[in-house]
Amino acid sequence: MSVNLQTPIDYLKGVGPNRADLLRSELGIHTYQDLINLFPNRYIDRTRFYKVNELQRNTAEVQIIGTITGFREIAQKRGKRLVADFKDDTGMMELVWFRGQKWIRESLKVGKTYVIFGKTNWFSGKYSMPHPEIELQSEHGNNLRSAMQPIYPSTEKLSNKGITNKVASKIMQQLFLETKGRFVETLPKTLKDDLKLISKSDALLNIHFPKTSELLTRAQFRLKFEELFYIQLQLILKNLIHKSKIKGFPFEEVGTYFNTFFKDHLPFDLTNAQKRVIKEIRSDLGSNAQMNRLLQGDVGSGKTIVAFMSMLIGLDNGFQCCLMAPTEILSVQHYNGLNELCKLLKINISILTGSTKTSERKIIHENLENGQLQILIGTHALLEDKVKFKNLGIAVIDEQHRFGVAQRSKLWKKNTSPPHILVMTATPIPRTLAMSVYGDLDISIIDELPAGRKPIKTVHRYDNNRLKVFKFIRDEITKGRQVYIVYPLIQESEKMDYKDLMDGYESISREFPMPDYQISIVHGKMKPADKDYEMQRFVKGETNIMVATTVIEVGVNVPNASVMIIESAERFGLSQLHQLRGRVGRGAEQSYCILMTSHKLSNDSKTRLETMVRSSDGFEIAEVDLKLRGPGDIMGTQQSGVLNLRIADIVKDKDILQQARYYAKQVLKIDPSLASPENNVILETYRQMSKYRNIWNYIS
Ligand code: ADP
Ligand code: MG
Repeated sequence: MSVNLQTPIDYLKGVGPNRADLLRSELGIHTYQDLINLFPNRYIDRTRFYKVNELQRNTAEVQIIGTITGFREIAQKRGKRLVADFKDDTGMMELVWFRGQKWIRESLKVGKTYVIFGKTNWFSGKYSMPHPEIELQSEHGNNLRSAMQPIYPSTEKLSNKGITNKVASKIMQQLFLETKGRFVETLPKTLKDDLKLISKSDALLNIHFPKTSELLTRAQFRLKFEELFYIQLQLILKNLIHKSKIKGFPFEEVGTYFNTFFKDHLPFDLTNAQKRVIKEIRSDLGSNAQMNRLLQGDVGSGKTIVAFMSMLIGLDNGFQCCLMAPTEILSVQHYNGLNELCKLLKINISILTGSTKTSERKIIHENLENGQLQILIGTHALLEDKVKFKNLGIAVIDEQHRFGVAQRSKLWKKNTSPPHILVMTATPIPRTLAMSVYGDLDISIIDELPAGRKPIKTVHRYDNNRLKVFKFIRDEITKGRQVYIVYPLIQESEKMDYKDLMDGYESISREFPMPDYQISIVHGKMKPADKDYEMQRFVKGETNIMVATTVIEVGVNVPNASVMIIESAERFGLSQLHQLRGRVGRGAEQSYCILMTSHKLSNDSKTRLETMVRSSDGFEIAEVDLKLRGPGDIMGTQQSGVLNLRIADIVKDKDILQQARYYAKQVLKIDPSLASPENNVILETYRQMSKYRNIWNYIS
C-alpha cells in the first residue's frame, strides 16, 4: 500500500504545525503531492571544492575546505557580529554571523577542519561568507549527498524562520523515506517508449536527488513533457467539448451579398493571407459548431475587410451582424468605411455609441428588433440590455484586449444560441504563448501586409539631438504631413508624467508657434468631449501636430500623419511601441518613427529599442517581448493558471511544448474519450489533476 499523496504536509516527520503553516503560506504547499512537485530552481555541483585564492567576485555558491583560526566579535550599529577567520593552504577569508552567535560560538571549534558552503561577498579587501552552511569535514563524508545539490525555491520569510535550503532538502528526503520513493506512473507505456522517457518514480528521484547530470536531464525532460502534455490535453479537450455542446447557426450559404461584393465591389485585390483567413472563417461558419475565432494581424494588415466579408456571409443566411470597437472614434471610423461599401450593396447599417441621440437610439432599437437593421456598429453601448437583435448571427469584436471576458459573454446572450464570434487583435501573441494559453482555440493569422506599403523608417535618437528632430518635423509639416508626439501614460498619481507632457507641449508650442502651426493636445485627464474635439481637429487636418499620451494607441486612422515621435521611449513596453508606430505608415508617403530617449538605458530598454529599429514584424517583436517580460506579464493574471508552470518554461521549452501538443492531439484523435485501457492512466491522472488543482480557465 502506497502512501496517500493527499496527506496534509503537517503529518510529515520533521515538519510540524509551524513549518506546515509556513510552507502553506509561502510556497502553497499543502500536501505531500505539493511537496513532491516543489522542483528545484537549479543545482549546484557539490563535488567541486574551491580554494580561497580561486574565489572571484561574481561566483555564486562555493564549497571550501579549511580551518577556523580564531573568533572575533565586532560591534556594529545595532548589536554585534561574530567573525571567524577561516584559512586554507591558499589564503584567508572570514565567516560572518549576525544571528545565533551564541550557538555558533559554542558548537564550532578553533583548529578543526570544516567544509563550508555558501555565497561569498567581497568586503574591504577580503572575501567573507555570511551564515555559511558548515560541517566538520569528518562528518561531511558520511552524509548522503548527491553530486548535484538542488536549490529549492524559497522566500525571505522561509529562510528567516529557519527553513533553509538544507532543511528543505531534509524534508524532501523524509518524504522519499516515507513513500519509499514509489510514485504512481502518470503516462502510458506507448508514450514513454516512443519518447524514451524514464519512469515517474525515477524522474522524481532524480529531480530531487540527481545521481548524474545525464539522469537529471532526463528527469527534467520527462517532467516538463508531462506538465505540458496535460495542459495541452486539457485545452484540446475543453475545445472539443465546447464544439460538441454549443451548436452555432450553420451558415450554409454563401450568397448574393458575399458574391456580389467579391465580384463587383472589392476595392482592392485581397492579399493571399486575407484570402486564406476568409476561407478559414467560411468553413467555420458553415459547420455546426459556434465559431470562436481569434483573428490576429498587424496594424494595417487589413482585418476590417475580412470582418466585413464574414458579416456578409451572415447576411446571406438571413442573420444580423454587429461590430464592436473599444472607442467612439474607432466606431465612427469603421462606420464611415463600411457605410460606403454597404451603400453599394443596399445594406442597412447604423452606428450606436454613447453619444447617439435618444431619438435615433429609439429607431435603432426598433429596427434591430424587427430585423430591418442588418449591421450595427458601435461601442460598449451595444452591450446594453435595451439593445435587442431579432437574430444576431455574428459578432465581431475589434481590438480584443480592451474588452474583458464578461463583456464577451454578454454578447453571447444576445441571441437564443450564441452568435459566431470573431475577435480581432493587432497585438500578436507569439505562437508558443497562444498554444499554451488558448490550446486549440481557433486562430487565424494575417501575416502579410497589402502590397505597395512603404515600410516605416524607425530610428533611435538621444534627447540632445532634439533640435535636429525639430527641424525634421518642420520639414515634414512643410511637405504637408502631420506629426504625432507621444508621451508616457498619465496616471492619476503620476504627477511627473503630467508635468513632462505639459513641459513638452509648451516647448513644442514655442518651437512651432501659431499661426503658422496648429497643435492638438490629448491626454487622459481631459473630458471625453474635449478629447474628441481635439482628436477630430487632427483627423480633419486642421492641426499639424498631435501631442498626446497613449490614448491614441488604438486604431486611429490618419493616413496623412507620417511621423511618430515617441518621447521617453525607454519607458514604453515593446508591444506599446509597436502599436504606436502603427499609427503612421497608413498613407502613400514615406513614414517615420523616432524613438527619443536619454542616455541612461537599461539593458532591457536597449533591447527593446534595437528590436523596434530592426524589425517591423509584429510577431517577431512579440517573441522578443515574451523573452523580456515572461508569459505571465504579457497575458495578465487571467491566464496565469496556465502559465504558472512548475517546471516547464514555454519560452525555453518551446520544442517540448510542440511535442507535447502533438502527442496530446494524437491521443485524443485516436481515443477522444480516453476509454481504451492503454489510456486509462491518462484519464486517471487527468481526473486527479482536475480534482486537486484549480483547473485553468481560459478564453471561452
Ligand atoms: P487593420 O488590420 O489595422 O484593422 P485595416 O483593415 O484598417 O487594417 O486596413 C488598413 C488599410 O489598408 C485600409 O485603408 C484598408 O482599406 C487597406 N487595405 C486592406 N486590405 C488591403 C488590400 N488587400 N490591398 C490594399 N489595401 C488594403
Ligand atoms: Mg483595425
